[in-house]
Amino acid sequence: MTIYLLVGEPLTLVDTGPATAAAWDGLRQALAARSLRPEDISRVLITHGHHDHFGLARRLSRVGAELLAHPHDRRNLALDRNYPMLWQQLGRAGLPVAERLPLIAGLRLLDRTARPVADASWLADGQELPHERASIRVRHIPGHTPGHVGFELGEEGLIITGDTILDGLTPNAVVDTDPENPGRPFLSLAAYAATLARLEAMRPRLLLPSHGPCISDVAGQVSALREKQARRAAEVRAALSAGPSTVAELVARLFPGVTFFGIFLAFSEVLGHLLELERQGGVQRVSARRVERWALAG
Ligand SMILES: [Zn+2]
Repeated sequence: MTIYLLVGEPLTLVDTGPATAAAWDGLRQALAARSLRPEDISRVLITHGHHDHFGLARRLSRVGAELLAHPHDRRNLALDRNYPMLWQQLGRAGLPVAERLPLIAGLRLLDRTARPVADASWLADGQELPHERASIRVRHIPGHTPGHVGFELGEEGLIITGDTILDGLTPNAVVDTDPENPGRPFLSLAAYAATLARLEAMRPRLLLPSHGPCISDVAGQVSALREKQARRAAEVRAALSAGPSTVAELVARLFPGVTFFGIFLAFSEVLGHLLELERQGGVQRVSARRVERWALAG
């Protein structure tokens, strides 16, 4: 995991690492190597509301840092997960109780690697954050989460992009609710496709991600991601050609052998594709009573 320190006034940290003793010690040591302390950080910019990105934010705010994030990740940052709704949703997806229980337990454990953030300053797309060395421009790049933001540094084509594009990894869109329409699912793949197009059009020189190496071949990575997603969508459609299926059946077919938290990520991936195919008119829900089945449209 990479977090970024923008030296100069105001001293700015982008993301924090999880709320673990090891991450806190690592942060303190990295700052000490520059004769700095956590108390010296004036501002923490949070790319998105996942635990490893904002876990230590509250601790840093308690020693004086202002926290800034996008309001569409407000619920994620507050660790405000609607467990009863998720339980029902997983049940409707055909996941048996014996698999739902460890999955929910895993999410609750994950929630212990962050402290909730309730009082951030909310960022808007296009906003400029003053900094002594270079301007920092906020770019709302939703998809991986609804409120994911990137930070464009100066005029040199550098963008800190969090988990939006990772070299060699496909960022997973986790099941989320639509921040503007709670009760409806966030259409992560449609948002992600628009974000990829936007980043590509910006023609950045270098992306600075949160995991793995920096990315210079942005167009190449974007087209590889598009191909991967098209392949996955084709796999979902092919699986449905045998007849209507629940999400759980599709997960078992496309991701054989996944367990525990892997089930949640696979579930997110399959549901994300189904919602996108539904939006495009390619699939439909054929029963929406206790267990929901999906089928090819027409
Ligand atoms: Zn993430």
